[in-house]
Amino acid sequence: MEERNKDEEMEQGAPVETVDTEEYEKVCFVCRRPESKAGQMICLPNQMCICHNCMQKAFDTMGSSELSYKDVMNIANAMGMQEELEQGDEKKDSDKGKSKPKMTNISMINLSDLFNMIPQKQRIKKKKPQEQPEKKSLDRKALPAPHKIKASLDEFVIGQEHAKKVISVAVYNHYKRISSNMADDVEIEKSNMLMIGPTGSGKTYLVKTLARLLDVPLAIADATSLTEAGYIGDDIESVVSRLLAAADNDVERAEQGIIFIDEVDKIAKKRNANQRDVSGESVQQGMLKLLEGSEIEVPVGATSKNAMVPLETVNTKNILFICGGAFPGLEEIIKERLNKQASIGFCSDLKDKYDDDPDILSKVTVEDIRKFGMIPEFIGRLPVIFSLGGLTKEMLVQILKEPRNAIIKQYQKLLAMDEVQLEFDDDALGAIAERALEKKTGARALRAIIEEIMLDIMYEIPKDDNIGSVRITRGYIENTGGPVISLRTAGALP
Ligand code: ADP
Repeated sequence: MEERNKDEEMEQGAPVETVDTEEYEKVCFVCRRPESKAGQMICLPNQMCICHNCMQKAFDTMGSSELSYKDVMNIANAMGMQEELEQGDEKKDSDKGKSKPKMTNISMINLSDLFNMIPQKQRIKKKKPQEQPEKKSLDRKALPAPHKIKASLDEFVIGQEHAKKVISVAVYNHYKRISSNMADDVEIEKSNMLMIGPTGSGKTYLVKTLARLLDVPLAIADATSLTEAGYIGDDIESVVSRLLAAADNDVERAEQGIIFIDEVDKIAKKRNANQRDVSGESVQQGMLKLLEGSEIEVPVGATSKNAMVPLETVNTKNILFICGGAFPGLEEIIKERLNKQASIGFCSDLKDKYDDDPDILSKVTVEDIRKFGMIPEFIGRLPVIFSLGGLTKEMLVQILKEPRNAIIKQYQKLLAMDEVQLEFDDDALGAIAERALEKKTGARALRAIIEEIMLDIMYEIPKDDNIGSVRITRGYIENTGGPVISLRTAGALP
């Protein structure tokens, strides 16, 4: 076979260098554009290729029997006939004055010359198709046990021991349920969750950390922006399309993801509402079928359906829904119930027994949530209910310094890049926590306070190369003193 090829090459004269079509792009013989720019090529014998554009032009020109000067030169260039043409040009110029030559007949191209004129030098390597990320499906054996999930959460989330335990077990069971054989007659029910806790106590943070640890897509939606379909606001189903986007439009991956609906207390039934409650009870009702599991047509790349966006069908049966909210006023409802129970009989308690109970939210029951304004069908679909406690001063101090990406560690890293060591006195951390507690926004306040006190330090330190370390004191936090700055000792790095 090889010998025959060689013979053929000998017969044709100069051997034609074969172009490896697998590795290199085809290049248009006329316009010299590669396949990636000119589109699909029409292949002629002897590895000559012409793009659709040039082919069309050639047909058009033949039709009108005229080629522009540029086209002629391009073709001639490609064929190495430029010199001949230019000689012809000069002759014509001298014959007819200055008019540009028009090619009136294509017969001047000697087809036999074409075979040696394949553009060999201009080679463009084909781009490798982008590697598709490996599709990950959940493997039950690879799923970490609840104590391992909790241990990983411990690295990031401070305190909230009960919440971490409940969520670890629920998530473990949920993914066990997905990977179990559904053909079995015992079908494990879905364990959607309702998380109750004051603002800044780490609800969102807990879910985000969890999704990252399990490597599942996560969509975070705000219940306040949801309205009944057809009204201004996001449709309820838009939360699923957000999840689909988080899963890079991979339906299979999205179907095993987590949807976190925050501020779910804001869709409680409005008391004394005379009008239609499109952003309250109706949203709860609209969410029922999502929570339960149903096939939903969601727009890809948009939050509302319209004729212009493609739709995908997503089954929410295996999507884990976690609802979270601060439920302000729920404490009173719980207290009222507890007081009522405690005030009956001989061993009745004092009426204000629960007034200062910091853990009152953990005593919540389904009945309390119903009283708050959630409809029974909605609560029924969230079988795992747990609460997060408010953060204490000690917890806030821990949040400042202990988690893997604690705020203080971040600043220490930033200053270490300038070879400056940053330290905080324990007393100073206490003062920051106290200031944060006053703001009543949980751990959210910490970041703002630290940003404020670190501004001057981050501005001044890089000015002076001699500074080796900075120690933040309580006085500096309380505006009664300054940070302790020590200079670098000669030759020693901090
Ligand atoms: P919310 O409960 O209102 O959803 P977030 O979860 O958004 O509050 O918390 C805000 C920020 O506070 C988080 O980004 C996180 O950095 C920090 N934070 C809150 N609670 C904790 C906690 N228990 N452990 C560590 N960081 C926390």
